Amino acid sequence: MDTGTCSRCHQPVNSQAVTCPHCGTQLKAYGHPGIPLHRAIGKESLCDSCTYHSDDTCNFPQRPFAKECILYQNIEESKIELQQQRDAKSLGATVNHWMKRNQSLLLLVALLLVCLMIAVSTT
Ligand code: SF4
Ligand SMILES: [Zn+2]
Repeated sequence: MDTGTCSRCHQPVNSQAVTCPHCGTQLKAYGHPGIPLHRAIGKESLCDSCTYHSDDTCNFPQRPFAKECILYQNIEESKIELQQQRDAKSLGATVNHWMKRNQSLLLLVALLLVCLMIAVSTT
């Protein structure tokens, strides 16, 4: 079972729960477990820390004072995600680059392995 935390009382709750069993806060929109309802903590609006507010792509009427939102995406979290994607890509690129530069070496090693296998199988 996946667990999350309630955005109001911070108790652990089942991530599929539509309402918090501890404080009764609505956690999902339209009573659907697949639609998380994000909720502002304290006086701050969700939009202040939302990606769609900072890149001006949100056209919800409650912007910029949304206290609850189903589309909210935290700027910091998405930055971290982007960075992770970039890191993964650059690691892939480094490996690719290295393989290209050392193609002949890899070929030699592969040939040696084949020779070794033949030698082992014929003894
Ligand atoms: S998606 Fe929601 S939280 Fe984000 S800017 Fe729009 S209304 Fe605000
Ligand atoms: Zn709660």
